[in-house]
Amino acid sequence: MRYVSHLNCTTCGTNYPADHLMGLCPVDGRRVQIVLDCERLEKERGRDGWWHPDRNDLWRFGGLLPLDFTDAEDRRHIVTLGEGSTPCVPYAYPLAERLGCSLEVKDEGKPYTGYGANPTLSFKDRGMAMTVSIAKAFGLTRLAIPTQGNAGDSLAEYALAAGIQVAVVMSPDTDLPILGRVAALARLHPEQITLDLVDGTIIECAQRVREHYVPRGYFSVATFQEPGWRAEGKKTLGLEMAEPAGDRLASRRWSVPDVIVYPTGGGTGVVGMAKAFDELESLGLIGPSRPRMVSVQSAATTPLVRAFEAGEPDITPLPPGKTIATGLNVARNVGHGDVLRIIRDSGGCALAVTDEMILETIRTEWRDRRFAWSPEGAATLAALPELADRRMIKPGDRVVLVNTASAEKSMPTIRDALGGGI
Ligand SMILES: [Zn+2]
Repeated sequence: MRYVSHLNCTTCGTNYPADHLMGLCPVDGRRVQIVLDCERLEKERGRDGWWHPDRNDLWRFGGLLPLDFTDAEDRRHIVTLGEGSTPCVPYAYPLAERLGCSLEVKDEGKPYTGYGANPTLSFKDRGMAMTVSIAKAFGLTRLAIPTQGNAGDSLAEYALAAGIQVAVVMSPDTDLPILGRVAALARLHPEQITLDLVDGTIIECAQRVREHYVPRGYFSVATFQEPGWRAEGKKTLGLEMAEPAGDRLASRRWSVPDVIVYPTGGGTGVVGMAKAFDELESLGLIGPSRPRMVSVQSAATTPLVRAFEAGEPDITPLPPGKTIATGLNVARNVGHGDVLRIIRDSGGCALAVTDEMILETIRTEWRDRRFAWSPEGAATLAALPELADRRMIKPGDRVVLVNTASAEKSMPTIRDALGGGI
């Protein structure tokens, strides 16, 4: 952890030592982030000498991550299953063509030749690879996670690879391909994997983690409870969107998109991507302008949308609703205030789409383009017409939508939209 300078509470600003194992800030109960010494990184490695584009996983960002594979000590802790380094796939979409903007899908849900691939077919693998690797560096042997689904099977896979015990706490309503996978791993490796089913959503599951597992020596890696580990993994989404590619490759020119449309549950990705761009700017690789960050939520559960529209600094939690986009069914999270600040500062917005819009998008896009969207990913595409109406997308813009997982993981709920299967 050569370039980790210290930990910092993003709300009260209190700093903590880099080697301090902690959860939320003890002063105000808010989230803590890892602060990297970018000045030292630049002095020792050059502006982008830490970047290893020949490596097809997220560890390609070397010294700009808390664990650097080029450092012998860090390398011992890194647990990798080939995660990240996914492509931004050009997406031919009539509305984007009419608007004259380029539309790309950051596709986290399936492997593409010549790229990395997320082993459990979701973006959660980025955060979990980093979390398990840092946990290993700290000598932790037991982790617990409350989850809406994808983070659970992801953590189980990485914990197995690392020889760490985990408790996965999820609702019995979790999409069956995910729940079944964790159940199978728990049966195959009962000494390592525990599956605990709790009625409700991630909020009730988080309570179970706090009350049952933490007192038994498990370290909670709930969203933002760990000191910035998951966000450091998700940060690589932003780094990959900005890294030199295509006609920018020869000149090694970094460049951020104009708009990022992100399906937002807890919001680790928003926080991680914003941190990526801040660090790239401090290294002099990009300027001060930022992508307009758009958080898309399910109309069933809209904490960010309501707070954004009311101009509030933080969310006011209401009970969650019901939605097929289970990853978006997060009624409150300790990081939501930061997500609001980031989307406002970027000139972006938060908006909601209905399950009907999501299903119609999945149906149409599979029929016309044979692209299998996850419900959460489809929410971003379903939001485009309203974003165009709001002039959030303009001619010439590079717009990136994030398809967070594979369609197969939600198969029971979307199979009719896919015409029975894929
Ligand atoms: Zn604090």
